[in-house]
Amino acid sequence: MYNAQEVAAAGECLRTARKVSIVSHQRPDGDAVGSALGLALALKAAGKQVVVALADGVPTTFRHLAGADEVVSQGDPSADCRVFVDCGDVGRGGSAWQADWPVDVNIDHHKTNTRFAAVNIVAPHAVATAAMLAELLPAWGFPLPVEAASALLTGILTDTIGFRTSNVTADALRLAADLVDRGAPLSELYFKALVERSFEALRYWGQGLSRIQREGGLVWTSLTLEDRRISGYHSNDDADLVGYLVSVRDAAIGVIFVEQPDGTVKVSWRARSGWDVSDLAVRFGGGGHVPAAGATVPGSLDDVQRKVLAATRALLNA
Ligand code: AMP
Ligand code: MN
Ligand code: MN
Repeated sequence: MYNAQEVAAAGECLRTARKVSIVSHQRPDGDAVGSALGLALALKAAGKQVVVALADGVPTTFRHLAGADEVVSQGDPSADCRVFVDCGDVGRGGSAWQADWPVDVNIDHHKTNTRFAAVNIVAPHAVATAAMLAELLPAWGFPLPVEAASALLTGILTDTIGFRTSNVTADALRLAADLVDRGAPLSELYFKALVERSFEALRYWGQGLSRIQREGGLVWTSLTLEDRRISGYHSNDDADLVGYLVSVRDAAIGVIFVEQPDGTVKVSWRARSGWDVSDLAVRFGGGGHVPAAGATVPGSLDDVQRKVLAATRALLNA
């Protein structure tokens, strides 16, 4: 399932490097943080100097993970091995990495990956980049300390929404079980990553839920700058509300529109099995997976909503 040559080349790059620079995507989710920290902690345990860079830092939800405090905002292009994890294209690093800086190793599971590095390990069937690393790191000869196992398990938990996505296989569960065997505290990590939320996030959900709309299998809502002001919620994301839109009975696709301060709208799609929203996201300049994709679209909330809903309806009616 992996290309043996690419796996060997990536292992070589990591094993021979003195200093490793790791970047993951802007607005990081649990897999971005978990795979970056899991890789970093395993490499540090092997005596490497490692710098983890995330353009937007580590969200509160994942600050309990070891190494979160040492994350910086800029990668190091002079490192011996420059690695991207969980990024479909080099631009996903945002301000942490200039697009013309070379990347040695790209480890990712996005179907839309552009293979931008010298060595590309891309596995669209993998449930999370963290799941790939749980398999690859021991195979490369890097043992997983409990802190690394915990970070990787967090990536698996968040990308599978607690093992609920349709791509979860027995092999994925075995990889997770292996991390639990290494000491990762499953229920504690699950609670931190997927259950616990701020009071403000629930108030923010309330704003979005009060305007939820449905048309056949399409369910959508929006979140505005004003919603964030009213609720006291301070991030420019959807606080994971989109996953609940598609939980509506008979829904096929859920879409959320999050107004941004820079005149763009962050669009997130979630689809039930049988629907593929990744191509739709690519058409709007984004990317993602078959059941979960996103894009940042320039324009007013009303305009973006009109265009995106029209295209999503067309997909549902095709
Ligand atoms: P989100 O809608 O942000 O929760 O993201 C869902 C999936 O789509 C994740 O796997 C993201 O990595 C991917 N994604 C979201 N936004 C973008 C974007 N602007 N470009 C490429 N991929 C994206
Ligand atoms: Mn991600
Ligand atoms: Mn991922």
